[in-house]
Amino acid sequence: MKTKITFFSTKPYDIAFFDQANHDDSLELCYLDTHLNPATAPLVQGSAVVCLFVNDKADAAIISTFAKAGVKLIALRCAGYNNVDLAACKQAGIGVVRVPAYSPYSVAEHALALILTLNRKTHKAFNRVREGNFALEGLMGFDLHGQTVGLIGLGKIGRVTAQILRGFGCTVLGYDVYEDEEAKRTGVSYVPLESLLAQSDIVSLHCPLTPQTHHLINAQTLAGMKNGVMLINTSRGALIDTMAVIQSLKSGKIGYLGLDVYEEEADLFFEDFSGKVIQDDVFSRLLSFPNVLITGHQAFFTRNALQSIAETTLANIHAFVNGGPLENEVVFKE
Ligand code: NAD
Repeated sequence: MKTKITFFSTKPYDIAFFDQANHDDSLELCYLDTHLNPATAPLVQGSAVVCLFVNDKADAAIISTFAKAGVKLIALRCAGYNNVDLAACKQAGIGVVRVPAYSPYSVAEHALALILTLNRKTHKAFNRVREGNFALEGLMGFDLHGQTVGLIGLGKIGRVTAQILRGFGCTVLGYDVYEDEEAKRTGVSYVPLESLLAQSDIVSLHCPLTPQTHHLINAQTLAGMKNGVMLINTSRGALIDTMAVIQSLKSGKIGYLGLDVYEEEADLFFEDFSGKVIQDDVFSRLLSFPNVLITGHQAFFTRNALQSIAETTLANIHAFVNGGPLENEVVFKE
């Protein structure tokens, strides 16, 4: 009998990569384009496995629906797992697996794309030159070489970001709850968070969203940063208190803001709202600043990463179906 896997929030590119990675016919891949919510959760009936993406929020009520429908495993096709109530899963006897590493290069390189675009304003130059405007006023940047960059979180993505920045000739400061020898060899100097914030020209976030890191960037931590700092977030939206960041943009404390993630992105990202009125006034205010660059959670979006995500997700599911050890299990910690 085939194992049925129901996918939520599936896009055509997901289907292409998962179909390509699915080499045997023991799995039935059932793709839904709808997001996971209380109304769509019952669609999992008959599925042993549910495959979720970053903004499919599996809270306690949804986990209960899954359990009643016979779901045994949630396979996350992403690294972060802040969208799943792990305590509820444990209680319901539902396992959780994820893709802890697919391509740290995809996200680290996107963080660099945000830094370089905000600095050298290539997005503005692109439009200007196409309109026959070759004036340089307003496009001045600074040398990245010699700048001090503070990385919060030096896991897989933070370490690759550090390597790239060292290649640019930056001084790289790091803050993490654990110190990593490989990061030190790359040239990262670990410092307390307050020192990192006080010394860095650019601050980039690479830690997970946990109760400890929720609103890590807030009015108080922003006050401890350099005037005109560049802030980059490719990690999770709620690491940042958006209202505090808006105040800091208005005062000039933040000189540049690059976001790939946003606290309330679940209602916006991955969908086409062009021609429609955006109802999120906070997001619209962010978009109104000339020194803010936002991408819609696309840092992971390289063909290398999508292939790796599909392969690891299916390997996780095969391991579960075959009763093997779950290398990428997310274990609930009391
Ligand atoms: P990782 O687990 O390898 O590294 C995370 C690091 O953060 C670890 O070194 C950990 O010790 C550190 N950390 C944990 N709590 C901390 C705290 N309170 N303060 C400081 N550091 C802390 O994870 P990774 O693969 O490097 O990914 C980092 C994050 O990037 C993920 O959690 C995810 O939210 C985000 N991400 C975003 C995208 C995207 O497309 N935008 C894609 C993949 C991952």
